[in-house]
Amino acid sequence: MNIINNIIYWNNCNKDHKKKILSRPIFLTDKIIKNSVKNILKNVKKNGDSSLKKYSLLFDKINIDNLQISKEKISNSQFNINCDIKNAIKNAYSNIYKFHKSQIIKKKIIEIIPGIFCSQIFRPISKIGLYIPGGTSSLFSTVLMLGIPAQIALCPNIILCSPAPISNEILFAANLCNIKNIFQIGGAHAIAAMAFGTKSINKVDKIFGPGNVYVTEAKRQINNILSSKTSIDMPAGPSELMIIADELSNYEFIISDLLSQAEHGSDSQVFLITTEEKIAKLVQKNISKQLEKLPKKNIILKSLNNSHIIVVDNIDECINIANMYAPEHLIIQCKNYKYILSNINNAGSIFLGNWTPESVGDYASGTNHVLPTYGYASTYSCLSISDFQKKIYVQKLTQNGLLNISSTVEIMAKTEKLLGHSNSITIRKKFINKQKQKIKNINKMIKKNILNLIPYQSARLLYKENINNKILLNANESPIISLFSTNKILNRYPEQQPKTLLNAYSKYTNLNNENILITRGADEGIDIVMRTFCNQKDDQILFCSPTYDMYRVTANILNIKYLIISSKKNTWEIDFENIQKNLSNIKIIYFCNPNNPTGNIFDKNKIIKLFKLIKNKIIIVIDEAYIEFCIDQTMINLINKYENLIILRTLSKAFGLAGLRCGFILTNKYIIKILCKVIAPYPISIPVLDIALQSLNKKNLIIMKNNVNKIIHNKKWLINKLNNLKFIKYIFKSKTNFILVKFYDSNIIFNTLNKNNIIVRDQNHEKLLKNCLRITIGTFDECKKIFFTLQKYLN
Ligand SMILES: *Cc1c(COP(=O)(O)O)cnc(C)c1O
Repeated sequence: MNIINNIIYWNNCNKDHKKKILSRPIFLTDKIIKNSVKNILKNVKKNGDSSLKKYSLLFDKINIDNLQISKEKISNSQFNINCDIKNAIKNAYSNIYKFHKSQIIKKKIIEIIPGIFCSQIFRPISKIGLYIPGGTSSLFSTVLMLGIPAQIALCPNIILCSPAPISNEILFAANLCNIKNIFQIGGAHAIAAMAFGTKSINKVDKIFGPGNVYVTEAKRQINNILSSKTSIDMPAGPSELMIIADELSNYEFIISDLLSQAEHGSDSQVFLITTEEKIAKLVQKNISKQLEKLPKKNIILKSLNNSHIIVVDNIDECINIANMYAPEHLIIQCKNYKYILSNINNAGSIFLGNWTPESVGDYASGTNHVLPTYGYASTYSCLSISDFQKKIYVQKLTQNGLLNISSTVEIMAKTEKLLGHSNSITIRKKFINKQKQKIKNINKMIKKNILNLIPYQSARLLYKENINNKILLNANESPIISLFSTNKILNRYPEQQPKTLLNAYSKYTNLNNENILITRGADEGIDIVMRTFCNQKDDQILFCSPTYDMYRVTANILNIKYLIISSKKNTWEIDFENIQKNLSNIKIIYFCNPNNPTGNIFDKNKIIKLFKLIKNKIIIVIDEAYIEFCIDQTMINLINKYENLIILRTLSKAFGLAGLRCGFILTNKYIIKILCKVIAPYPISIPVLDIALQSLNKKNLIIMKNNVNKIIHNKKWLINKLNNLKFIKYIFKSKTNFILVKFYDSNIIFNTLNKNNIIVRDQNHEKLLKNCLRITIGTFDECKKIFFTLQKYLN
């Protein structure tokens, strides 16, 4: 039977006949080959390099001194091939690279049920051996097909073996793929060397690449030796092609494709399946014309003996035959290739339409040409980067995740009578429940108000990762760094209220020492005043929202009730009328002036009016954390006038010492005396004292004031610029080192800035501050960055 003199009419064949037509040429490795390969493997394993040289002399008639090709020879290969070939290889390289790069799968973590996170990760196979056949043609295209996916998969150790003499094209292609370890050795002994390792060739984990019967048999045997722990890419067989053609196919194209595949080897097999008898006859009649011109005519004639032209009744039968045969290559030269493609289940590589000859896939279109043959296409895949990788599953359960799935696993394990399995769940469940019981017990002891407390959301808590790479404009800190150092003896307790620091702050504020209490930041001031004056049962504090959250948090912690009076929307004016109406049971009123987060300053006269009205019955705390940015607005001079006035100050903001934790309470000397009873014994550590003192010396006070002016200048610049951006609704007036900005959609802005590593403070949690962000004024560079980022990404 021969393609040239016989057309098969599918419907005239019985079942057995059909089966026979679609069978592969018998591909039996005879016993002699098997035994000889077995011997070669044994010898190489035992004698290593010396047996490799012996076999090279015996089989390839070459005496090899150095198995390894020098680095120099590899890199010189580029000068020893002509430019056209070089460019062709480079083009193919870039196409194949592009396609295979797209096969990389991004890591995805899936939350299966709450608390159970599963993912798949990929790791390269560590040691890879590539085999490139030599002989009559130099298969440098195969170097690309194996080397590129290995390179993309990031396999760290790649070696390549090919029979001597290795062509410059192979060396050039290998060099493109960054393969540096190349050995001029071929045949079964090369496979043995890679599988077992010799002195000069390292053992590999997986062997890739085609070869003759000896190579194929060696790979097969290696794959079956468990102890070698070396695997192979896929089982190999002769090459094959099936073409499905309809009335629109071009018979000359069909012939050229059939012949191109038939020239691979005398055991190759090609098929034409068509619904058109006319096409079948044209192909048969004209095949000799193209055949005559091909140099590998004799090989082709032999493989055509294994090949068939089949005429069927309809396209569905073509599909059936293709799926039954599972061809390595399938060309669908049909008008309706989409329909056919969607029904093909078994094939290595598919080529669609008239303009897609299989040769492009063999060389340069981008897909791999290492494909499953011999019917393995029904279970094996074409070579891809996953063949150079291992998939590894990763999972992580939280405590709740484990509880959520525990009974499912316990029941399944018990039913399968694998009690060890269920035990590993049960033992953990017991542990968790015990822990939960402990927590329950502790919770019973904890005060209710603390259990339910919504703690202060510190800026540092919210964005704590990689803060060194970020522009932090979310905590109203100074962007300017002043360097202080200290080396003090620390074995003694500090003074309770260090005199030197009292002196220094007194000089800075023009107050007496007796009017000052040094605290661990203004935050401690908020707390001490509340603890000193408020009785849990019936006292309340009052503050005006939106404002600094620590008044609420401190009250919650101390279990003191609070009353919030909203400031007037958008002007942020204090609603004094409303305050006046609600003063019963109020013990302390906290004002933040200038206010955080709105940035505005209050009308001093109205506050004085309030003092007069409440007549010493209520403490008024004025938090002047930002007062250095508008120092003329301080109420410090009222301290001697109103004995119920307490002012809070800090070195955290204008002084640029947020990390120091130092603040001050300023009030009359009697209150200071009382507060001294409440404050912790040694609030100010000696290093803090030392640095606070330095910051208050003459020189550093000048620097601080200069820095304040710089920041005010930056603020003006930024406000000016931002006012040009159309997605900004409003910028509130600010007397501080931050601005409150209202946007149309603050989430977009926040996320855009975040993506660009600029962190600002979201104020959406406040009722009156929907779509508002608070932006700390940074250095001039940082102001420029925030503006240009917004302009670039959003305008
Ligand atoms: C930052 C800030 C504080 C805290 O000051 P520390 O001295 O760092 O504790 C107090 N009040 C207001 C209004 C603040 O913005």
